[in-house]
Amino acid sequence: MKLVFATNNLNKLSEIRSLVPEGIQILSLSDINCNEELPETHPTLQENALQKAKYVFDNYGFNCFADDTGLEIDVLGGDPGVYSARYAGLECNAEDNMNKVLRNLEGKKNREAKFRTVIAVIVNGIETLFYGECKGQIIKVKSGTKGFGYDPIFIPDGFNKTFAEMTKVMKGSISHRGKAVNKLIDFLHS
Ligand code: IMP
Repeated sequence: MKLVFATNNLNKLSEIRSLVPEGIQILSLSDINCNEELPETHPTLQENALQKAKYVFDNYGFNCFADDTGLEIDVLGGDPGVYSARYAGLECNAEDNMNKVLRNLEGKKNREAKFRTVIAVIVNGIETLFYGECKGQIIKVKSGTKGFGYDPIFIPDGFNKTFAEMTKVMKGSISHRGKAVNKLIDFLHS
């Protein structure tokens, strides 16, 4: 089966391709000649995931899915949450975002956080949602060069290395996105 992953994030694309079995072919947006920014204008992960998937389904006619992910930090009241991509400003990059998190957590004992992912899939016009979360701690100094986004400052519970120090497959076996993707795979096989 062919399914478009509605994302412009090549790291996410490669993570997901490493997780799905051979029978499911994941197409990228460039594979379907979609070279535009997808709209992402809502205040919740769920609405944004659906908005991106619907945009591709309605305008390009492919069965597809999209994810939206946020890092929620307890002591910051769940921030950066749905605004994780633009936490340090509109033109910011991952380094700026991590630096802002580390500044805001200076002197704070509680460093508990979780990643939450919502995947919205549309197959033959029918929308379905899947959820995944991964709890952990924000460390004080970035560590690791793999992964993307906030990976260098997040250690998942039960481990002593950051997501940025794990292989894609290792991260995917415990991560928010990996859990949501496994539910998507079960659904596609049922
Ligand atoms: P979005 O789902 O693409 O909107 O991601 C929101 C923000 O969270 C971006 O800054 C991403 O880099 C970051 N992000 C999403 N997934 C992950 C992840 O698995 N690890 C670390 N950061 C992530």
